[in-house]
Amino acid sequence: MSPTAPRSTAELEPRHLLTAEDRCDSCGAQAYIRVTMATGELLFCAHHGSRFKEKLSATALEWHDESSRLTEGDR
Ligand SMILES: [Zn+2]
Repeated sequence: MSPTAPRSTAELEPRHLLTAEDRCDSCGAQAYIRVTMATGELLFCAHHGSRFKEKLSATALEWHDESSRLTEGDR
């Protein structure tokens, strides 16, 4: 059971906000997830995004997830 999950702006804003220059704060890989906190923004790769989601989603103001881009493409 997940309580009030933060809205995903990916549905509201079709354009991609993250680029190859955005890097995961934890490992430096390309960031696919941007978390807006009251104190600022955090960037995570898909791996760390899912890893920290449970912990951060409770306090995150916004959870922008573009990790679906990893499975899209070359079709
Ligand atoms: Zn990472």
